[in-house]
Amino acid sequence: MKDLMQSGLTAGEVAVARQEFGPNEMPKLPPPPWWKTALRQLESPLVWILVAAVVAAAALGETIDAAVIAAVIILNAALGFAQEWRAERALAALTAMLDPMATVRRDGRETVIPAREIVPGDILILSTGDRVAADGTIVSAQSAEVDESILTGESVPVSKSSGDLVSAGTSLVAGLAEARITATGVNTGFAEIAKLTGGLDRRPTQLQVALARLAKWLGFAAVAVALTVAAIGMIAGQDLLDMTLTAISLAVAMVPEGLPAVVTITLALGAGAMVRRQALVRRMQAVETLGASSVICTDKTGTLTENKMVATSAWVDGALHEIATLSDEPAAQALFGRLGRVGRLCSHASVSEDAHGNVQEIGSPTEIALLRFAQAAPDIGSGDILLEVPFSSERKRMSVLLRTDDGFRLLVKGAPEVVLERATHIAYADADRSLDGIERGKLEAALQSMGSKGLRVIALAERSANSDSDTEEEGLTILGLVGLIDPPRKEVADAIALAKAAGIRVIMITGDSPVTAGAIARDLAIACDTVLTGLELKDLSDDDLVSLMSKDVLFARTRPADKLRIVTALQARGEVVAMTGDGVNDAPALKRSDIGIAMGQRGTDVAQEAADVILLDDNFATIVGAIDEGRRQFANIKKFVRYLLSSNAGEVVALVVNLLIGGPLIFLATQILWMNLVTDGVTAVALGLEKAEPDQMKAPPRKPATPILGLSGLALIVTFGLYTGTASLVIFYTFLSVDPALANTMAFTAMVVFEKVSVFAFRSLTSPVIRIGWTSNPLLLLALTLTLGLQVAAVYLPFFQTILHTVPLSASNWLWIIGLALPLIIVPELVKLARVGRQKR
Ligand code: ATP
Repeated sequence: MKDLMQSGLTAGEVAVARQEFGPNEMPKLPPPPWWKTALRQLESPLVWILVAAVVAAAALGETIDAAVIAAVIILNAALGFAQEWRAERALAALTAMLDPMATVRRDGRETVIPAREIVPGDILILSTGDRVAADGTIVSAQSAEVDESILTGESVPVSKSSGDLVSAGTSLVAGLAEARITATGVNTGFAEIAKLTGGLDRRPTQLQVALARLAKWLGFAAVAVALTVAAIGMIAGQDLLDMTLTAISLAVAMVPEGLPAVVTITLALGAGAMVRRQALVRRMQAVETLGASSVICTDKTGTLTENKMVATSAWVDGALHEIATLSDEPAAQALFGRLGRVGRLCSHASVSEDAHGNVQEIGSPTEIALLRFAQAAPDIGSGDILLEVPFSSERKRMSVLLRTDDGFRLLVKGAPEVVLERATHIAYADADRSLDGIERGKLEAALQSMGSKGLRVIALAERSANSDSDTEEEGLTILGLVGLIDPPRKEVADAIALAKAAGIRVIMITGDSPVTAGAIARDLAIACDTVLTGLELKDLSDDDLVSLMSKDVLFARTRPADKLRIVTALQARGEVVAMTGDGVNDAPALKRSDIGIAMGQRGTDVAQEAADVILLDDNFATIVGAIDEGRRQFANIKKFVRYLLSSNAGEVVALVVNLLIGGPLIFLATQILWMNLVTDGVTAVALGLEKAEPDQMKAPPRKPATPILGLSGLALIVTFGLYTGTASLVIFYTFLSVDPALANTMAFTAMVVFEKVSVFAFRSLTSPVIRIGWTSNPLLLLALTLTLGLQVAAVYLPFFQTILHTVPLSASNWLWIIGLALPLIIVPELVKLARVGRQKR
């Protein structure tokens, strides 16, 4: 293949082409215009209730109320718009991070560039799993197969050879290919479709759907209750205006208006927080599901380990040598040279140095390590590469057919068992020997000893070939084994301990050998009772696999297809599975798992597109970090849902009880709007930013089916609602005989203060605030200062006095309110302290 290489465009030609054709960008759907986002804010049933209120108030001559409610509609829409805009910006930043890269050859060198910089004339180099970034004509191909389903709907891959066309948007799912680019960006056939396939899946999450359903349900209930109350009132001969306002107040009090917007903004900001922890979320649902994951299935190479491989030892000429001393073995030099030739030529890796002395390594770390190993070997000459049978995780080997001065040779490298199975001879410094039982025994012992040190072992082999098409990988002569170290990443051991404490199982599924995998698992303290190889897995029935999953299993020498079976078996046990993957054939398992995780650096485009989350640093520790973050966000959503609903409950209790008593209106419609829209939403957003609780990663994962509220949640809401509702009624009736306007202002202000101070109880549903710190959420303190400040303004500023019908409060009035608010801070703290104490005992 290398003789077909073309050196590609020069820098000058690239500049000219870019001038002429522009960037290789697919047209994106323009973002929705701002006015559409703004209009959407007016779509909710609440807005229609309020519009009805404006009309009713205006018809009854209450122009101030009508104007105030109209202003509230606009203010509410503006707040919703601002939050959606912020969420939109956070998500747009994520989408930008998904922009793909591509490998091209320019000036005779392979370079990785952003796909948008490709120009017509470029030589695009495609490996298995790459997405084709522009239209082109294939100039060379090795067993290349392209998935064109995105264009044709046909899911069977199409083989491609030299002269065939490839289209932007399709992906290479097998083999290798090089294509000369003919059209880029809007000139490609994919341009029209690209508009439809965005980078980020923003479908609403299950939680959002559930909460939207709750909000809608409450909305309808509110309208029904309001109409009933109004009807009863009118039949009983009450004042029409009073009854209308009561009905509207009740409707407004029942609906947690801020909820959907607060959830949206929390998830979007949450996705931003995930990126700061190196996890890029492709599907919004993942933020939620991550927190519930109970098993992480992870590959080894590059995720648990550094993937910076270095050859340290080699088994050559019947003995194990340190690489550094291999050159000192004169007898082994010829053999070392043959090994080196395989490492150099049976490879796609390249190590080059640019004019500034910067070393650029391209290719898989395994091949780079072998190339570096080969550089130390004596050069025994090369030859022309005629054909290649590429590496794949299924085949676990790779071969090239070479034309040398002494005829054709097939050079092979791969997983030792696989190469050994196809070998008949073994090379020694003096001569090649037949691979009999004794020689096999020696090789097995060498493999065992290298593997148990955690070394990744590659076997190198060759044979003379008969023709320019003889690529049969049989009858090989083993040249030796090379041991590569790939140390565990330093953060991983802690991350595994953290996962264990959080009740999350870690299962290693690797293509590497059982011995090497076992050694790494031991190093990292990954629990492992049983090691199962891909072959053994094949013989296991699905049911047996499901029951085997109760043990701590490690899977080695697996093929990607095995991952799908493993996920399915785990899911059959009710586990929520996070699964990593990087190759084309990992895509089905990534899609099947609850959280598909692709590698950002190592992963193919195909795997990344199938995944829910992309690890920007390919690091296992990032998965555990993302789960931690997911748990925090879910816990916070739980907190503000309870908080907002208990605020509404208090208002409903006060209004309904007062209605039953038959007293005058306790809160005016405008006051309720003020409480719900102006002050509660801000506090809830701040609650969504609470830091993770100290014990968050010491509890087992939440069961995915548990409802967001549940009985304990409802009990909490009812308790708070009963207290705040009753306390405001007590204040109202205490002052009603003194001055109805004062009583109303007192009840209104008391309710606002109650709602504000009760937020401390919701900052953690289990830990006392002393443990999480009174000031650990500064934004919450800011929100409280702001909203309480607004309430003071509402009471003392003439403007607000007019629109909210308030009167000034005296110091003793405030003491009443503060006195009744204190239990809301003190009691929940005492309850939590007592609970913590009981648990300790
Ligand atoms: P993991 O699944 O944890 O990433 P892995 O990299 O070992 O581990 P694969 O990529 O499926 O998994 O590789 C399987 C085996 O194939 C490796 O253990 C190694 O022995 C062999 N191998 C890896 N890369 C090459 C290569 N470029 N050429 C030949 N053989 C290779």
